[in-house]
Amino acid sequence: MLEASHYYFNRAAEIIGITEKIKSILLTPLRVVKVEIVTEDDQGCLMSHIGYRVQHNRMRGPMKGGLRYHPTVDESHATALANLMTWKTALVDIPYGGAKGGVNCNPKELSTPELDRITRTFVEQIKEVIGPSLDIPAPDVNTNSTVMGWIMDEYSKYYGFSPGVVTGKPLQLFGSPGREEATGRGVMIVLEEALKDQGKSMKNVTIAIQGFGNVGSNAARLVAEQGAKVVAVADHMGGVSNIRGLDIPALVAWASEHRTVHGFAGGEPFESAEVLTWDVDVLIPAALEDVITRENAGDVRAGLIIEAANAPVTPEADEILNKKGVTVVPDILANAGGVTVSYFEWAQNIQQFRWELDRVNGELSKIMRRAYESVRNLAASKSIDLRTAAFVLAIQRVGQAALARRHIRDSIPSID
Ligand code: NAD
Repeated sequence: MLEASHYYFNRAAEIIGITEKIKSILLTPLRVVKVEIVTEDDQGCLMSHIGYRVQHNRMRGPMKGGLRYHPTVDESHATALANLMTWKTALVDIPYGGAKGGVNCNPKELSTPELDRITRTFVEQIKEVIGPSLDIPAPDVNTNSTVMGWIMDEYSKYYGFSPGVVTGKPLQLFGSPGREEATGRGVMIVLEEALKDQGKSMKNVTIAIQGFGNVGSNAARLVAEQGAKVVAVADHMGGVSNIRGLDIPALVAWASEHRTVHGFAGGEPFESAEVLTWDVDVLIPAALEDVITRENAGDVRAGLIIEAANAPVTPEADEILNKKGVTVVPDILANAGGVTVSYFEWAQNIQQFRWELDRVNGELSKIMRRAYESVRNLAASKSIDLRTAAFVLAIQRVGQAALARRHIRDSIPSID
């Protein structure tokens, strides 16, 4: 995955024409933190997990990025995702750098008190390098508002009341209205814009979604509310399809009770991986990375892919999709709604002032549409794909901010 993010970076950097020296500076993480988290399990025995926080770049502001609890979390994985956060925050032009981290663990095998202890010990180990003006974690795969509440509580024990240390918190702990659904809402907004460019609207498209967690379920609900027909949904346990369109509110209720879409009676079951090659207009991968690969890219039937997950398409697959004429709206644009509303949450925490939901959604819509428009216009004017255009815009912003901080002769050309 790290090679993939470097590949996309290098492809765009070549178009901008930046030097090897600046490329290397922009790719190298500022700081990599690896800690051992020793806690007790519910039986009173010792457990040990490894936690990571990779802080990639802080040229445009405090570093920002999620915490993932998953068996695949390691240094290389966190570094790749931290890189993406730097480009994502720059692309939507919010005052942050990029970071990412998590704990290598299987939360499905841990009780809530065990996860609470792991989280608090992790915070204790990284508390010196996070903070409202340093690095602000947020939810990602297998972490949620509850975990963010624990982080705020633990950090505040050392530094006093600090809601701005983390975003995606519960509303009672000064989370933002609209944050829970923000990534899904951003996905819906860019889909709306991409469809407009193709002369289509939500009302005349069919959609397949991989992943029905925070991002996938909220995206499903919001696109269905706009009139789109979500005909296939899959998660780690299996898939469910309905040619007339799935009843999304009923599926959300089923999934929240059973923790999977598998077994939902309002459709036909299918093997999870088949969702990626479903015969639909739009495919929304909203689960994990590297799911569309050299092996299955040729079988993708959707004409439009909205990357709700981070890095769901490998570079080889990206090339195959481009050749096939499939439009891919890249992750750093498509899923930026979450970090954008995290920014609003942090701004509210710093101001100690709460925004209404309408304001949050209105500002989110403006930022997402503006970012989409700038990517689409650059892609059209330079005859490049949307991913390359997004990276070009982001790299220019970060690079120019880095250079503007020093009195030096190096420069980064502007090509937009
Ligand atoms: P989540 O833990 O809430 O949900 C993950 C979903 O993926 C679950 O439905 C799970 O069953 C499914 N899944 C896991 N393995 C699968 C497999 N092999 N096949 C099919 N489905 C599988 O996580 P989330 O927060 O919804 O994040 C999903 C993706 O979106 C990740 O790539 C994450 O980095 C990205 N993302 C999340 C946010 C956010 O605000 N939560 C923001 C930006 C990007």
